[in-house]
Amino acid sequence: MSDDIDFEILSLKNISHIYDQENHKLKVLSNINIVIKKGEMVSLIGPSGSGKSTLLNIAGLLEKPSIGSIYLIGKNCKNINEEAKANLRGSNIGFVFQSHRLFPEFSALENVMLPQLIMGTSKKQAESNSKELLAMLGLEKRFSHRPAKLSGGESQRVAIARAIANSPNLILADEPTGNLDPLSAQNVFDILYKVVKSLNISCLIATHNLVLAKSMDRCLFLENGAIKEQ
Ligand code: ADP
Ligand code: MG
Repeated sequence: MSDDIDFEILSLKNISHIYDQENHKLKVLSNINIVIKKGEMVSLIGPSGSGKSTLLNIAGLLEKPSIGSIYLIGKNCKNINEEAKANLRGSNIGFVFQSHRLFPEFSALENVMLPQLIMGTSKKQAESNSKELLAMLGLEKRFSHRPAKLSGGESQRVAIARAIANSPNLILADEPTGNLDPLSAQNVFDILYKVVKSLNISCLIATHNLVLAKSMDRCLFLENGAIKEQ
């Protein structure tokens, strides 16, 4: 892959999405075009129900758009099978959600190791990578803690370490600080910012926090199915 700053990591082309609801069809996204370049951190804001999660799920190949194409690191994802999609996702995309979604029976370290083991990294290598990542996120003293023994902000930092464990090109985050108090939200965001910038990972981050949204490289506003760049 090119290290060129202009390299397109994610390109959504003419995306429209319609949900079949009980008595009607709901058009959530209407002819959306977004390009995210290498290392860019982009925020996605918009009212509740405007389609932010839908857009992230489509970008992450978790949901198929009704119309349109998704290009991930230049590759058209339209006609690839589920296995190829899972591989593309596993090696290119890290997901962070509003709740940490860590496995409660595993330690912080094991939670970060898991996606690497799934992608075929050896146990020894996964362990040393995970320790390094957790340390980058300020969690060097939390390796053996289970999620129940971590604060909300610490759990989200473990979730971020897990999301970047397979060196993805892109992080998709759906309100990653939505469950945190303002101070922890800022703290988690500052660490996320530092880490993704140092690793040159692109991000698309849905948030209701306008202060955080405005501090990213670009801010996209989703309303009535359309994107406006702010
Ligand atoms: P946001 O994340 O901005 O709050 P969502 O993408 O979750 O918005 O939802 C956008 C709209 O699509 C909402 O009106 C929601 O009710 C509807 N919606 C989301 N998922 C589905 C689904 N699986 N089936 C039907 N309607 C859905
Ligand atoms: Mg949502």
